[in-house]
Amino acid sequence: MPDEPTATLWVSTHTSTCGRCRKGAFLDATHHDRIATGFDMPDPLDKPCGARFTSIGSLRIEYKEEHLRAFRPDLPYQSREGGNPPL
Ligand SMILES: [Zn+2]
Repeated sequence: MPDEPTATLWVSTHTSTCGRCRKGAFLDATHHDRIATGFDMPDPLDKPCGARFTSIGSLRIEYKEEHLRAFRPDLPYQSREGGNPPL
């Protein structure tokens, strides 16, 4: 699929966020095919964008690159400065 959209998976304390559509995502997801809603009720009209996660970044200053690598050794680290974090 040459036009497959890609995104950074942004990790925070209780949630992760898709960098493309900025909706909730699961930390273990390879694609944004499910919405993680955290503590909110899911919105039935909310749809995940389907992007493939190609990098992982942190929204929390204390989550360092090595922590994210432990979560997802398959994804390269994306810094906040070089990415487009949702917050
Ligand atoms: Zn998405």
